[in-house]
Amino acid sequence: MASRVLIVGAGLTGSLCAHLLRRELAGRLQLVVWDKARGAGGRMSTSRCPSDPKCTVDLGAQYITITPDYAQKHKVFHDELVAEGILKPLSAVVEGMVMKDGSSNLVTPLGVSSIVKYYLKQSGADVQYERHVTQINLRDGKWEVSCKSGYPEAFDAVVLTMPVPQILQLQGDIRKLINEKQRRQLEAVSYSSRYALGLFYEAGTQIDVPWAAKYITDNPCIRFISIDNKKRNVESSDMGPSLVVHTSVPFGIEHLEQEKEDVQPVIIKHLHTILPNLPKPKEIKCQKWRYSQVTKAFPECPGQITLHSQPFLLCGGDGFTHSNFDGCTESALRIVETLASQLHY
Ligand code: FAD
Repeated sequence: MASRVLIVGAGLTGSLCAHLLRRELAGRLQLVVWDKARGAGGRMSTSRCPSDPKCTVDLGAQYITITPDYAQKHKVFHDELVAEGILKPLSAVVEGMVMKDGSSNLVTPLGVSSIVKYYLKQSGADVQYERHVTQINLRDGKWEVSCKSGYPEAFDAVVLTMPVPQILQLQGDIRKLINEKQRRQLEAVSYSSRYALGLFYEAGTQIDVPWAAKYITDNPCIRFISIDNKKRNVESSDMGPSLVVHTSVPFGIEHLEQEKEDVQPVIIKHLHTILPNLPKPKEIKCQKWRYSQVTKAFPECPGQITLHSQPFLLCGGDGFTHSNFDGCTESALRIVETLASQLHY
C-alpha cells in the first residue's frame, strides 16, 4: 500500500520536496501538503490586488540569484524553470544592487509564487490550505497530526518545512522527541524581521522613476523599493503598476510587536520623503515578516534533521541551510534523500 506522507508548508522547500518525491517514488506515495495560509508560496508569496487580480506584487523574495557555487550544482533546477518560462533573466535597472562576481539574477514574470505553484502542480499532491498544524502525536506506529480546525489525520511520514520557531511551537509527542542538544540548537536558529508593503495603482498610472528597483541606504525605515511589474518586465496597458517596499531590519525589529495597521502609515510617510511625487495607490497591503531571512542557521547547515525514524518525522526549510532558492533546494534534496532511503523498500 502507498505510504501517506504529509508535508507541512506550501513554501519553496515543501513544494520542491513534493515535486522531487513524486519523481523519485511515484506510485509508492500518497502526498499531502498542508499550509496554514490561504494560498501557496510562503515567503515566496505573490499578492493580488483585491479589486484587480491581474495586478500583483511579490511581498517576500524578489529575485532568484544564481551564484557561482550553485550554477552547476543546481543547474537542472534553474534550467527546468527557465525552460518552463517561470524564470527569465533580470533585464531591468536595479540601483544599488551589490552582486558577487559571477552571479546573475532571474525574475518571475508571473510573480515569485509561480515557482511554488509549478512544483505543487507537478507533484500531484493533495494540497490543502487553512490547515494550521498544532500537534503531532505517535499513535500505533503512525503520526497523528492535528490542526486548529478539522479532525486529526494519520500519516506514515511527516516533513515540517516552516521556520524553526514555528516548529518549536508544536505540541504533543513531538516535544518529547526533541532532545536537549537539538532543542538548544533549534532555539539558536535566528531570523531577521521586516515589513513589506504592496501598493496597487489604477491602470494607466505613471510612476516616474528611472529604475525598476532601488536599494535605499539613507532612510531609517526603508531599505528597498521596486516597481514590481517593471522589475518582472511585465507592463501592459490594462494593468495598473504595483510597488513593493521592504523596510530595513532594524525598523522591522523596533516595530515587531506593533499592529501592522499602526506601522503602515509610518512606512508610507517615509516612502513619501523618498518619492514625493508618488501617486495615490488604490489599495495597499501590509505584511509583517516576523521570520524573514535566516541570520543563524542550524549548526553545519545539514538541510534537514531527523527527529524520529520509523515512522519518519523530519524538519527542513531554510533554517537548516540558508535563505534563498538554492538553500531551499538543498534542504529539499536532503529531505528526499532521507525519506527515499526508507520508503524505497
Ligand atoms: P516558507 O516560505 O516560510 O514556508 C513555510 C510554510 O509553512 C509557510 O507557507 C507557512 O504558512 C507554513 N506554516 C508555518 N507554520 C505552519 C503550521 N503550524 N501549520 C501549517 N503550515 C504552517 N530568497 C531569494 O531566493 N531571493 C530573494 O530575493 C529573497 N528575498 C526575500 C525577501 C524577504 C522580505 C523575505 C521574507 C524572504 C526573502 N528570501 C529571498 C528568502 C526566501 O523567501 C526564503 O528562503 C524561502 O521562501 C523559504 O522557503 P521555505 O519553504 O523554507 O519556508
